[in-house]
Amino acid sequence: MEPDFELVREIVEREGRLCRFCLGSLIGGKLGAIPNAVKGAALERTLELSGVGLEGPCAICDDLIGGSLEELVERALRLLSGVEYSSLKAGVKLPPWLIEREDRLRAKYNPPNMVSVKLTLIKWLDLVLSAETGAPIEKDPDILVTFDLALKDVELKINPVFIYGRYRKLERGISQSRRKCPYCGGRGCEKCNWTGKIAEGSVEGMIGEVMKEFFESEDYVLHGAGREDVDARMLGRGRPFVMEMVNPRKRRADLKKIEEEINTRWRGKVEVLDLRYSSREEVRRLKEGSPEVRKLYRALVEVDGFVTEDDLKRVERALTGAVIRQRTPKRVAWRRADLVRVRRVYEVKTKKLDERTFEMTVLCDGGLYVKELISGDDGRTTPSVAEVLGKKAFCRELDVLEVLGH
Ligand SMILES: [Zn+2]
Ligand SMILES: [Zn+2]
Repeated sequence: MEPDFELVREIVEREGRLCRFCLGSLIGGKLGAIPNAVKGAALERTLELSGVGLEGPCAICDDLIGGSLEELVERALRLLSGVEYSSLKAGVKLPPWLIEREDRLRAKYNPPNMVSVKLTLIKWLDLVLSAETGAPIEKDPDILVTFDLALKDVELKINPVFIYGRYRKLERGISQSRRKCPYCGGRGCEKCNWTGKIAEGSVEGMIGEVMKEFFESEDYVLHGAGREDVDARMLGRGRPFVMEMVNPRKRRADLKKIEEEINTRWRGKVEVLDLRYSSREEVRRLKEGSPEVRKLYRALVEVDGFVTEDDLKRVERALTGAVIRQRTPKRVAWRRADLVRVRRVYEVKTKKLDERTFEMTVLCDGGLYVKELISGDDGRTTPSVAEVLGKKAFCRELDVLEVLGH
């Protein structure tokens, strides 16, 4: 730092006093073991001894930093108490005028080792946070503590906790996601507890509300590996999902207990299994959907007229191994573009129940619209059960028996 001293002296003589933080960033240098703020404090003393730059407020920060830091650190520690975390990181927001002054000074004197005031502050606050809490500083921390010097405020950005699991839906009429609150239209009101959403009647809500209690989170989001229709059950080993806990105050909970609680509270409606901790990365993979995902469905099919065993044999033969072309079904056309989807059916098995109804199991690619595979959707899906039979057919009940390949 010796070569910089004359320059610092010159700057201070011309521009006026600088606080230890701004001095520290001015001399900067490699961010080694000694933080700039400490180097700055030492330099401040040296300048004092040589009688330079003693007067007035800091020429860069107007003493904003020194004047607010202590209080902000205290506030941060208060906010952090009662929240679980195993790593932290500091963030800093500075007012634009401060950065402008800093830039002007940098352009005018071009101090060779200058580091931004912001970085100097971040390094300093990292040290303080770590010393005060004992938590290590990490690049991708559980909590990012942002010190906003412009607003004199502290904000915690708590990383979500992700839980992987599989859900079974044993009752029809349950949607996967929460519905918008009908009272406020999603803006948030007293009726929906300011979430904008209604938890009842959805897989997301039933699982999420229980997890929310355990993780003391503000909110939650269910990311599913695809979704079934509201009126379809989801059976077998269930559908994979990752639940994202938003702003959780707890990061570790007994997942076995959560599983038990969900399965007891929603007995006969929704069940979860295989809960474990997960990551944002897994959410991405789940959402992309593996191209190899296949699904096994069970459908109850009703035919206009009557069906014979021969008819059913024809359906099995015609559809097993068939490539199905589907234009976007009429029932979802209002929210999806009209495209042609091509999916494969691997196996179809049938079982006659009475004159006009039969049960059908279908093993097919994920994304195939099974209701339309049965009805033909007025020729928009082909081939179809209706087309093979030459009669109207419709899907009275649908269950997902298995999601394979996740
Ligand atoms: Zn300053
Ligand atoms: Zn509402």
